Amino acid sequence: MKTEILTLSSPKGHEKELEHAASVLRSGGLVVFPTETVYGIGGDATNEHAAARIYEAKGRPSDNPLIIHVADPADAEPYAVTNDTYYKLAAQFMPGPLTVILPRRERIPLSVTGGLQTVAVRCPSHPVANALIRAAGVPIAAPSANLSGRPSPTLASHVIEDLSGRVEVIIDGGECEVGLESTIIALDGDRGTLLRPGAITYDALCCVCSEVTIAPACLEQLSADARPLSPGMKYRHYAPRASLVLLDGDVASVTSFLVSAASRQGVGILCYDEEQALFRSAAPLFPIGHRDDLGEQAHRLFAALRAADEHADIHTLYAHLPPREGIGLALYNRLIRAAAHTVLKV
Ligand code: AMP
Ligand code: MG
Repeated sequence: MKTEILTLSSPKGHEKELEHAASVLRSGGLVVFPTETVYGIGGDATNEHAAARIYEAKGRPSDNPLIIHVADPADAEPYAVTNDTYYKLAAQFMPGPLTVILPRRERIPLSVTGGLQTVAVRCPSHPVANALIRAAGVPIAAPSANLSGRPSPTLASHVIEDLSGRVEVIIDGGECEVGLESTIIALDGDRGTLLRPGAITYDALCCVCSEVTIAPACLEQLSADARPLSPGMKYRHYAPRASLVLLDGDVASVTSFLVSAASRQGVGILCYDEEQALFRSAAPLFPIGHRDDLGEQAHRLFAALRAADEHADIHTLYAHLPPREGIGLALYNRLIRAAAHTVLKV
C-alpha cells in the first residue's frame, strides 16, 4: 500500500485535506494523526474491520483494547455510559491528555475493547486531531502509532519508520507537545483508579474524584499470574535494543557511577542536559532535558529511546530513576517498564 503523507500543523486553511482524511476513515481506512500526547493510528471505532486493521498494522495483541477519541466530551454519549464524575473531569481536563474508562454501549464492537464491557474515552486537544475527528463524524479508535514493542512516536518521522506502507494516510503535524501517552483513569462512582499516569497528574485527579487509587501495575512488576486492570499493563511496552538500567541514588553517587561507566565500551546514557560536559568520553549521550524540568524530560524521552536504538553497539543504556511527583510519575512508569524493572542502587 502506498502511504500518503499530508503536512498539516494546523487545521486552518486545510479543510480539503482534512475532509479527504476523514473520508478515508469513514470508508474503513487508517489515518495516523498528531495529538498533544503522541501520534495515534486512527480507524472508525464503530467498524470492526477498521479495528482489525489497526491491530494488524501495529502487530498489537487483540486483547489489548483501543482508546476511542471524540471531538467533544458529550460526543461519547452514544458509545459509553457516562456519569457526573466523567463530566466533572471533562470540565477540568478535556479536551486534553486524559482517558476515562466507562461502561461500553453496544455501538462500540467488542473487538475494539479487547472483549471488555468497558470502553476508554478521550477527547484530544490537538487542533488537527480535533478537526479530523469532527470531520469524520464517528469516534476514532487510535492507539499510539508505533509498531507494538517500539516507543510511542512523537514525530512523524518515527511513524514513517514504523508504519509506512501499512496505513492509507499519515498526517505530519510536527512534534507532539506532551510526549507521553494520556493519563488513564477508571471510575467507580466518584472514586477513580489510576491505570496509567500521564500529564494529568494524580494530584490533579484528586481535586475532582473523592479518592484516587494508583493501580499497582503503574509502579511494580506484576506476578506472572496477576490479571492487570488494564490489559496493556501486562505487555512490555517499549523494548530498547540495549538493556536499560535505572540508577537510584543521590546526585553525587549517580554522577560518579556514570562518569566511570561512560568510559566503558558499549555504554550509552540518557542524561540530563547539564551533565553532558561531565562525560567527555566516547559514550553516546542522549540528553532528555534539565534535571528539574520533568515536563521537558517527558517531551523528549521517546525520541531519545529511539535515537539510542539506532546505536547497534550499545549493550547497556543507563538512565536516572525519576522522582514520582507530578508528571515524574508518568516518566517513572514508562522508564521502569522499558527497563523491565531493572533498578541499580548506587
Ligand atoms: P495506547 O492506545 O497505545 O495508548 O494504549 C491504550 C491503553 O489503554 C492500553 O494500555 C489499554 O490496556 C488501555 N485501555 C484501553 N481500553 C481499556 C479498558 N476498557 N479498560 C482498561 N484499560 C483500557
Ligand atoms: Mg501504545
